[in-house]
Amino acid sequence: MTYFAGEYDVAVIGAGHAGIEAALAAARLGCHTAVFTINMDAVGNCPCNPSIGGTAKGHLVRELDALGGEMGKSADECFLQSRMLNRGKGPAVHSLRAQIDRRKYAETMKHKLELQENLELRQAEIIDIKRTGDGYDLTTQMLASARR
Ligand SMILES: Cc1cc2nc3c(=O)[nH]c(=O)nc-3n(C[C@H](O)[C@H](O)[C@H](O)COP(=O)(O)OP(=O)(O)OC[C@H]3O[C@@H](n4cnc5c(N)ncnc54)[C@H](O)[C@@H]3O)c2cc1C
Repeated sequence: MTYFAGEYDVAVIGAGHAGIEAALAAARLGCHTAVFTINMDAVGNCPCNPSIGGTAKGHLVRELDALGGEMGKSADECFLQSRMLNRGKGPAVHSLRAQIDRRKYAETMKHKLELQENLELRQAEIIDIKRTGDGYDLTTQMLASARR
């Protein structure tokens, strides 16, 4: 059984760190946007220490911040402690890394997506993408059960 789930200017597959910022940016630019996540409890998941920043990724967080993104702000809101890495080396490789509350960070990011105008957060796995005339058709797989 299939049903039409909606039409969007922008569809973002995955509400990880990249998907969150892409969806927020598109919605804030006025595009009717949907962001799909397999699991609502894993929005902005940190499968790690968890930390935001550090060598190589610290500059990405700052770039997102400069472009109006939410990663740095949410890291501040969920902050536990921070450390400047590589102090024993030259200033070019000094790198700020913040330890954050992983669960709170996921909740904070989910809440920001939910509050964003022009943006719908939907729990579904995209299983197929087809090019159509002037856009794309996305197929999702949703579990449904019925007694009859
Ligand atoms: C063990 C581990 C430790 C790490 N430690 C650190 C660290 O200390 N510091 C650090 O900065 N980084 C760390 N990282 C790296 C960091 O987690 C990744 O760089 C970051 O998560 C990448 O973000 P992303 O949005 O590209 O992808 P992801 O965070 O992987 O997000 C992708 C999302 O898309 C969803 N998705 C995928 N396919 C579909 C589909 N078909 N339909 C719908 N949704 C879909 C996934 O479920 C997921 O939610 C670590 C990673 C791992 C695995």
